[in-house]
Amino acid sequence: MLDDKDRIFTNLYGMRDRSLKGAMARGCWDGTAGIIARGRDAIVSEMKASGLRGRGGAGFPTGLKWSFMPKESDGRPSYLVVNADESEPGTCKDREIMRHDPHTLIEGCLIASFAMNAHACYIYIRGEYVREREALQAAIDECYDAGLLGKNAAKSGWDFDLYLHHGAGAYICGEETALLESLEGKKGMPRLKPPFPANTGLYGCPTTVNNVESIAVAPTILRRGADWFASFGRANNAGTKVFAISGHVNRPCVVEEAMSIPFDELIDRHCGGIRGGWDNLKAVIPGGSSVPLLPGEMMRDGAIMDFDWLREQRSGLGTAAVIVMDNSVDVIKAIWRLSAFYKHESCGQCTPCREGTGWMMRVMERLVTGDAALEEIDMLQEVTKQVEGHTICALGDAAAWPIQGLIRHYRGEIEDRIKAKQRGRVSAVAAE
Ligand code: SF4
Repeated sequence: MLDDKDRIFTNLYGMRDRSLKGAMARGCWDGTAGIIARGRDAIVSEMKASGLRGRGGAGFPTGLKWSFMPKESDGRPSYLVVNADESEPGTCKDREIMRHDPHTLIEGCLIASFAMNAHACYIYIRGEYVREREALQAAIDECYDAGLLGKNAAKSGWDFDLYLHHGAGAYICGEETALLESLEGKKGMPRLKPPFPANTGLYGCPTTVNNVESIAVAPTILRRGADWFASFGRANNAGTKVFAISGHVNRPCVVEEAMSIPFDELIDRHCGGIRGGWDNLKAVIPGGSSVPLLPGEMMRDGAIMDFDWLREQRSGLGTAAVIVMDNSVDVIKAIWRLSAFYKHESCGQCTPCREGTGWMMRVMERLVTGDAALEEIDMLQEVTKQVEGHTICALGDAAAWPIQGLIRHYRGEIEDRIKAKQRGRVSAVAAE
């Protein structure tokens, strides 16, 4: 279990003073100018050495991403954009950082922007996060008043402005290029890549888009050292991580833990166990709604919560939003609900996603009631493969993967339901 002394987020539950004074007493903004004085290359090298992988879902190494930014300006400014859209169903970790521990993020924005030669940073916050925006804006205002932002920010010699932009509530704006479009005042639609944002991003300028948690952990990593951060978790899965556990556990919670924590330890220690006991565990979505679900048996003994172990099981850590489902759940209907979500959130720009998400949802609808032919299971699987990897952005994959996971692990249940319906055994069919 992670010791309290090793927690980066010391006010995740809002029980302590979240003002600048309170945050400083807990170690925020300590020696910020000194960190910046180390220079750009030293900061990027330290971040690389820490092994931090992006906390927004894809798990791309953060230090490496920072190093893609141009070292010298060709006349264009560089930007850091923080993705605070957090719209993935089940995910609610960044909101706790923004409303209760906002100074970790603000200090991170200054240091990361300096490391990428950016004098301005934009935080794009999800439309539904009204209270979080208010809390974060209040913290930003406090920092301006205290000289931690603005000209010669935190007496570092670096001029830096931080802007908070409130989105309008579209899931697709969490995709980094759609986010940039939206920030520019256009419709939030993903861009074709290349060019990548590090070359042509916000307003056509070099831009890095990072998740809230990835930026908020940076100051502590730089204060305590890469070795300290890398001492948590297995190789290639370094650090501490904020997990958000929802669903059928006794006490759903958001908690910072060491990466690679065994799943049973995470649930028993922090969530009071599975509702009705471990034998009542049906399935787990380990990383937000877009990763394939895993059956309860796979998550019982020896399951490890990190990027590599979950990828080996053909799922993913994603945002570390763990959705636990017990035996009361109709798992086919649960995945249908996600299909409906992705269909609704598709921006409609590319055909496989626009048509495919609706098509998949309609078949899923019939699988829920058993009103399908057995051959349609393979047909559905085939369509998910035609959507996956054939779209402009990852929403197509996100819509395909939950269904693939369902077919992989619960094919028998789907077939039983169709056969029961054909035999007229309505009682075996899920309630509509
Ligand atoms: Fe839009 Fe879907 Fe294409 Fe992404 S995959 S660009 S959401 S239509």
